[in-house]
Amino acid sequence: MYLPQEIIRKKRDNIELTADEINFFIQGVAKDTVSEGQIAAFAMAIYFNDMTMDERVALTCAMRDSGMVIDWGYMHFDGPVVDKHSTGGVGDVTSLMLGAMVAACGGYVPMISGRGLGHTGGTLDKLESIPGYNITPTNEVFGKVTKNAGVAIIGQTGDLAPADKRVYATRDVTATVDNISLITASILSKKLAAGLDYLVMDVKVGSGAFMPTYQASEDLAKSIVAVANGAGTCTSALLTDMNQVLASSAGNALEVREAVQFLTGEYRNPRLFEVTMALCAEMLVISKLAADTQQARTKLQAVLDNGQAAERFGKMVAGLGGPTDFIYNYDNYLEKAEIVKPVFAETTGFAYAMDTRGLGMAVVGMGGGRRVASDKIDYAVGFSDMIRLGDEVYADTPLAMVHARTEAQWEEAAKAVRSNITVSDNKPEATPEVYRRVSKQDV
Ligand code: URA
Repeated sequence: MYLPQEIIRKKRDNIELTADEINFFIQGVAKDTVSEGQIAAFAMAIYFNDMTMDERVALTCAMRDSGMVIDWGYMHFDGPVVDKHSTGGVGDVTSLMLGAMVAACGGYVPMISGRGLGHTGGTLDKLESIPGYNITPTNEVFGKVTKNAGVAIIGQTGDLAPADKRVYATRDVTATVDNISLITASILSKKLAAGLDYLVMDVKVGSGAFMPTYQASEDLAKSIVAVANGAGTCTSALLTDMNQVLASSAGNALEVREAVQFLTGEYRNPRLFEVTMALCAEMLVISKLAADTQQARTKLQAVLDNGQAAERFGKMVAGLGGPTDFIYNYDNYLEKAEIVKPVFAETTGFAYAMDTRGLGMAVVGMGGGRRVASDKIDYAVGFSDMIRLGDEVYADTPLAMVHARTEAQWEEAAKAVRSNITVSDNKPEATPEVYRRVSKQDV
């Protein structure tokens, strides 16, 4: 028998906690026998004294097991259950294509996604711009769509990792979000409750990333890989670039449109293509659906070329309540803004740098994201045809097309585009799409 305050005292005094103590505390969180004040003190003690890898594994497993953990055994899938999670970006629509591509290569991707957070877009918000798409299906429908389409992207249900929900809400108001141990356990508890065999983590680096520096992103990637493997789920990570908007668009319906165009081959932004292929290939390799990256890429290219990936996406949308012809007639279904006009730079030169966070906040400012949880999203607004770093900027080269509801909204967003994209006489050095891979052997 333990006492929560004694566990907090131990962590406060920088003494390593046992798995039993951590379990006891987290069970108390889930059962409401631990108070909000005690959660706050526990989080702050961790913030200052941090956790060993063993403690992080224990915290992750305790939070994962605080609710339902899906066991896919009853579905008798003939392939591995594999997923990807990203720390979040701007114009990062990879999940929509990636799930369908991996499914078409033999994987099963039951992806439980989140809403937009701060300046970053959320996969669920994007999918909700498809009329009829149900992000909260029954467990039965979730399983059926995963089986038939190979992919189902839905929202988190209240019974997955409920302890994280309470801990995160307290962290959010006690300045204890930015701690790698707590972030690791928070992300992984929710992901691992989805019953995955394999996980690939996409940790973003750059001006639009959740972590403030390259070093912090690398530390988070290493922590997640070590802890997930320690918790029994084979996991690797890629560090990918978020120094510019990843797709050519940012905004919910605009990104869905780009995702479908990517899958059908109508249009593929080269950076988005590279990051998506790298993550998909990593998923195929760790789940043994491909012998190596080269073979994985060949398979992935084939399912893009022969339309199977697009077909999987269409099946998922229809299976979850969306239109049955969405991949063919997406333009008939996605909401559009009234005012669509280009914004031009004030000087000529090269697109030198982007404050990607600022651009993400500009989408939020137009109503494309939430400032508070109760905000309603405007799916139609945002940017398309975004310039890429290194592109030449002439007087008549748009930095982006701004999709707005009113002239005043357009003006404000255009100002944000100009102020968050630096145009210079100098061409910037190209940044790679993928900085590095972090595997079990690296941690
Ligand atoms: N996202 C999460 O789910 N948890 C964190 O702690 C931070 C980001």
